[in-house]
Amino acid sequence: DLILFWHRRDLRIADNTGLAAARQQSSQVVGVFCLDPNILEGDDVAPVRVTYMIGCLQALQQRYAQVGSQLLILRDNPVKAIPRLAAALNVKAVFWNWDVEPYSQERDRNIIDALKEKGIGFLEKNWDQILHTPEEIFTGGNAAYTVYTPFWKNWISKPKAKPVETLHDVAGLTPEQQEIAKQAGAIALPTAKDLGFNWDGGLILPPGEAAAQKRLEEFTHAAINEYQEQRNFPAIEGTSQLSAAFKFGAIGIRAVWQATLEALENSRSEETEVNIRTWQQELAWREFYQHAMYHFPELADGAYRNTFKNFPWDDNEEHFQAWCEGRTGYPIVDAAMRQMNEIGWMHNRCRMIVASFLTKDLLISPKLGEKYFMQRLIDGDLSANNGGWQWSTSSGMDPKPLRIFNPASQAQKFDADGEYIRQWIPELRSLDTEYLVTGKITPLERRAVGYPDAIVDHNQRQRQFKNRYQQQKELV
Ligand code: FAD
Repeated sequence: DLILFWHRRDLRIADNTGLAAARQQSSQVVGVFCLDPNILEGDDVAPVRVTYMIGCLQALQQRYAQVGSQLLILRDNPVKAIPRLAAALNVKAVFWNWDVEPYSQERDRNIIDALKEKGIGFLEKNWDQILHTPEEIFTGGNAAYTVYTPFWKNWISKPKAKPVETLHDVAGLTPEQQEIAKQAGAIALPTAKDLGFNWDGGLILPPGEAAAQKRLEEFTHAAINEYQEQRNFPAIEGTSQLSAAFKFGAIGIRAVWQATLEALENSRSEETEVNIRTWQQELAWREFYQHAMYHFPELADGAYRNTFKNFPWDDNEEHFQAWCEGRTGYPIVDAAMRQMNEIGWMHNRCRMIVASFLTKDLLISPKLGEKYFMQRLIDGDLSANNGGWQWSTSSGMDPKPLRIFNPASQAQKFDADGEYIRQWIPELRSLDTEYLVTGKITPLERRAVGYPDAIVDHNQRQRQFKNRYQQQKELV
């Protein structure tokens, strides 16, 4: 009784709830991944992300080989390709883990319809990538949370599942079945280049579950103990840099939680505990935004708050290009954008700074920034990215009415010695730290080193933004 396990954003075999369920029902379990043109041919794909994903698939194929089975690859619309393969192999069922994104849910419902038509079984709405499902965490009044702090209190109070058993002692396809799979569309795994994506900026996290597990161990034995302080300084590697693993499920969330509990057990002071708790809170932010996307899919299309639903953005094309390329003349903003363009990852503090700058200094629609992030980030993820952009725009689920970051004071606080700026803007390396950090570089000096003038004046734009905001507030 063959079960086909369809991997999507759970590119691992350890601590995978749907895969463990498949193994419980059958000793012949074969994996499949579908390269979906609806996603890969979209305009919000990052070459770095595809490169990481393909690397994870390579590693996953090796893992399947180690346990005695295979990972098949399809390249087609999954709504057709998955039921076709399942029918050709005459499988008992197709199992997979559910996701929060609107596209994913619609696709899955269509696939369920097709499987039902063919009399093939499937796993009812099984969750894997989050510790608590969106149907588990509600307010006293039984509504979805729209504010993080009460969400966190409820979320942390609930017992968390332990890691599930890793796939083992399993049989794969027979040679005849492999031939059938080929005829039904199974192909060799292409490279990212084969798919049209060229990335030579390296990967901040090596692909695959072993690398993610190693990073998790390193982080939870060291940097997590100073996370609360260190996570704010972009020149320091104070965060886990596990975001791509979370995005593609190269690591299981239950295993991650377990590692934080072990870190708590080993911690010798209250101070360390606070640091570990702070990291746990970030994991809860991730789930908060996933729940929000599940309950309010309209978040994907625009502002949550009315004040921002019809906001008169400028959307100046030259300003947008300067922001994208790291040429705004504001060193901390440009350093951050160049970091993302060069390595496909940006520090969280800087994501907030550049998002605030795009919306509140350049008065450019957050939608443009959100999309550009998706085109560049290794961890680009609808829920987290949308949540981050809405938070930075003040258009989302955040009790604080308005947040405006001053690039100079942010740099003074979080890159006081200019190390991060120097790392990403080589032409500014020789300048005095004070000028770098405050951005008070004379036009003459800018010209001498080939660094652009500031494209806008922060104070003036801040007033402009506040005026428009006030007008919108009065309108709604
Ligand atoms: P750590 O500090 O080690 O945190 C651990 C994990 O917790 C992260 O890997 C991530 O999965 C989760 N996490 C941490 N902070 C947040 C947060 N604020 N919201 C949701 N999850 C969080 N994160 C993404 O994964 N994908 C995105 O596309 C994305 N876009 C963002 C856009 C903006 C404008 C902002 C302000 C934030 C965005 N974030 C996004 C959140 C955050 O910046 C990254 O998760 C983090 O920088 C990743 O680095 P890390 O793995 O070292 O994080």
